[in-house]
Amino acid sequence: MSTTIAPSVVVPSANIADLQPSATIAVAALAAQLRAAGREILDFGAGQPDFDTPQFIRQAAAEAVEAGATRYTATEGMFPLRQAIADQASALAGGRWPVTAHQVVVSGGSKQSIFNACFSLFGPGDEVLVPVPGWTSYFEIVRLARARAVGVPGDPDQGLRVDPDRLAAAASPRTSGLILNSPCNPTGSVYSSDEMRAILDLAAERGWWVLSDEIYRRIAYESAAPSALQVASDPSRLVVVDGVAKAYAMTGWRIGWAVSPEPLARMMTALQSHTTHNAATVSQHAALAALSRVGESDDAIATMVSAFRERRDAALEVLGGVPRLRTVQPAGAFYLFMNVRPFARDGADAGGEIARRLLDEQGVALVPGSAFGSPDWIRMSYAAPLDQVVEGARRISALLHDGVR
Ligand code: GLU
Repeated sequence: MSTTIAPSVVVPSANIADLQPSATIAVAALAAQLRAAGREILDFGAGQPDFDTPQFIRQAAAEAVEAGATRYTATEGMFPLRQAIADQASALAGGRWPVTAHQVVVSGGSKQSIFNACFSLFGPGDEVLVPVPGWTSYFEIVRLARARAVGVPGDPDQGLRVDPDRLAAAASPRTSGLILNSPCNPTGSVYSSDEMRAILDLAAERGWWVLSDEIYRRIAYESAAPSALQVASDPSRLVVVDGVAKAYAMTGWRIGWAVSPEPLARMMTALQSHTTHNAATVSQHAALAALSRVGESDDAIATMVSAFRERRDAALEVLGGVPRLRTVQPAGAFYLFMNVRPFARDGADAGGEIARRLLDEQGVALVPGSAFGSPDWIRMSYAAPLDQVVEGARRISALLHDGVR
């Protein structure tokens, strides 16, 4: 006698009833699935450097494991790593205020740091300003905290950046926080020190928390991207999130951190003690090597940034030849954000339509702008080998030329 097992009906709790899976991760997963099925796909979906983690970092991690670094650390991370992060933050603050290791919480990737901060600071009734376009997970993480993410449209004439006027217009008495991200994912826009200062001043005046996501800070092409630690005049409601994933080509190691006022660091540590406890010990040792062996890291980062610059320029050269295609000129990160509205039939989701057609007709995977709150756009991650970037840009250009309506 054969029995059939009925599929179970799973009703999500109110916590995740409206949760959308990460669109950036979904595109990468789809590209991998299509490849496994035998299709040739150029994947410019998820933003992750194609470089290997620098050898000296891998070596340091291997040595740490051999030396017995296989057990728990403190929830908030091992002291030498937190000290290295605090030293870097103090240097950015230029001695205007000291940052101690007690203000640092190390997590399993900067995504967890952002979650810790939002979950600890915001809750029902709170509104959090998120510049649009903005990284897909900000919106969902704020919602997971049961707060409301309020999108603030960036200025199309200013690389889709926001300014105090735009923020003030979107604010309400319920506004309790703001998420800043420079260099920005998905646009590659970089806020100048003056622009950032004006925003931080407004936030301080209004009593908002500022979460400054600086994961792309070291990937900047024109001039160094400022940190909020360098420009803030008052760090009492400032959380700076960073990590090793992007600049050090260490996405898989999952190490991010938050630098915040000490009472918040204690709250985030308590939260993390009940979720994941410490970030992987071996990865913390790798991150310590990355942060403390400054000369070797600087060389590795400079090499990668110059490769990203070359790829950016090559992609822009090809795509610059497409009439009516508007692209944000990226000054940092490794993304190209393109407005494909003139090429689509779908007035509500031009980016989705073009991303689907690129995948089906050209074998090119990109992320639709709807993931970032901007459905007229698509995002290309050019953290891929130069020949692939050029070929991908050619295929995008071919589709848009053919598809002009
Ligand atoms: N942050 C990267 C991206 O936007 C990696 C994937 C993710 O975590 O979103 O593509």
